[in-house]
Amino acid sequence: NFDFAGKTALVTGAASGIGAATARALADAGAAKLILVDLNADALGALDLSCDTAIHAGDVADESLWDDIEAEGGVIDLAVLNAGISGEAAPIAKMTMDQWRKVMSVNLDGAFLSLRAAMRMAGNGASMVLTSSVTAVKAEKGIGHYASSKAAVMHLAKVAAKEGAERQIRVNAIAPGGVDTALWDGVPFFDDLVAKHQGDRAGAIATMAQQVTPMGRFASSEEIAGQILFLLSDMGGTITGSTLVTDGGFRL
Ligand code: NAD
Repeated sequence: NFDFAGKTALVTGAASGIGAATARALADAGAAKLILVDLNADALGALDLSCDTAIHAGDVADESLWDDIEAEGGVIDLAVLNAGISGEAAPIAKMTMDQWRKVMSVNLDGAFLSLRAAMRMAGNGASMVLTSSVTAVKAEKGIGHYASSKAAVMHLAKVAAKEGAERQIRVNAIAPGGVDTALWDGVPFFDDLVAKHQGDRAGAIATMAQQVTPMGRFASSEEIAGQILFLLSDMGGTITGSTLVTDGGFRL
């Protein structure tokens, strides 16, 4: 069990999936205060966590949201910069600028702005994790925008790690393979698979995972949250500028 007693943590994309599981895990591990950011204000409000929370509903790619958060003047110990979208899949030859820009805006501009704010608000010894993806290290067709944004996020973590090291600030990335979250809903091939399973979403996830993952299953949000907490914790010690790939062997 991790102990984050008294810590203040910033979590983006906190309303759903990996972000929500991480917010819950941090609260359960004793965090004193969580600064939660997501587009979905209602879902943020419904989280009902056992610690003090400051809710900021907005777009991580909106600089003024970060101006407001920074203006509150808090010091953070932990940051999980996790908001992201999958975007509309298309091969590079058919990808429109709108498709490209939408993904880059949320996944890369959003990661940059949230990391910049976190670096400004961080106390000495702070620890941060950015959510990348295994697709940053293994090419997959149709997701040139998503994969490129996640490769850039991985590298942003390295630069921030080097910049923060003197103040003992650690910055790492986590690169999940498939995780059973709402990110998949609305992705056309996944929706088709759910339809083939007569609406059985869990069955569709299981089929997809068996097809592509050596371990035959996807991760749960709670598993990824636990791995994020490890990187955030003192057990992470000297780990900085690293990317933890957690993919059931997908990249192998
Ligand atoms: P999710 O859809 O359950 O959660 C993503 C959250 O981010 C949502 O609450 C959404 O409202 C929020 N969000 C989206 N755009 C935003 C914006 N512009 N500003 C603020 N909040 C925004 O999905 P998830 O799987 O939990 O995704 C979390 C992260 O994990 C993402 O960065 C995603 O790319 C990454 N990831 C997911 C998987 C997977 O298989 N699910 C795999 C690898 C990486």
